[in-house]
Amino acid sequence: MCDRCHQGLSHVLAPSRRGLVLGGSALLLGGLARAKETKKPPKPQNVVSPEDALERLEEGNERYVEGVTRRHDFKHEREALASGQNPYAAILSCADSRIAPEYAFDSGRGDLFVCRVAGNFANDESVASLEYAVSVLATPLIMVLGHDACGAVDATIKSLKDNTTLPGHLPSLVAGIAPAVKAVSGQAGDSLANAIKQNVIDNVAKLKSTTPILSAAVEQGKLRVVGGIYRLRTGKIDMVA
Ligand SMILES: [Zn+2]
Repeated sequence: MCDRCHQGLSHVLAPSRRGLVLGGSALLLGGLARAKETKKPPKPQNVVSPEDALERLEEGNERYVEGVTRRHDFKHEREALASGQNPYAAILSCADSRIAPEYAFDSGRGDLFVCRVAGNFANDESVASLEYAVSVLATPLIMVLGHDACGAVDATIKSLKDNTTLPGHLPSLVAGIAPAVKAVSGQAGDSLANAIKQNVIDNVAKLKSTTPILSAAVEQGKLRVVGGIYRLRTGKIDMVA
């Protein structure tokens, strides 16, 4: 039914393939299974277990921290990636310009499926994107990636404390981050650091338990969801979930 899944989201969502979407995850996953039988992944080295994917992220971050990042051959990998993608990890990161997951994990194109939103919380659109990565691209690992001194979390703390409404569409960020801020209010220590950590932990838990696709993949051992915090001064990512 779906022998060209590696071609991308537009293919999956095309009207002629609507059965994939309307039929739910079973059909989607069934289509993926057949796609795997007939099509070789463009990056065979990315077909790894969740544990190996995490190890690869950690090794990439170590190289980045040490300043010994690899030279990436962007020119010659373009052709292989023109036919599809099979990233070994998905990252739900803050939009902060200082984070840059591809740099932080010293990764090439086609390696990371990155969703970014200020405050790195899972909304409907990012959950849907991650469902696509897991069910269609067979990505075995999701990392929620927060960072030190997150402006979105800080703005949420101030908005709730002062009982003010931020301008424009910013209240939608506040609504997404507020549960973590409220959960740690009254805790000892740095309120911003506490909320940043809690926000990562909460969103890891949310992604793990989101039905039907992500929760099923976790139960089947096909997916791990972890959380890290990027340290601005060193570039090191500390695991917190
Ligand atoms: Zn941030």
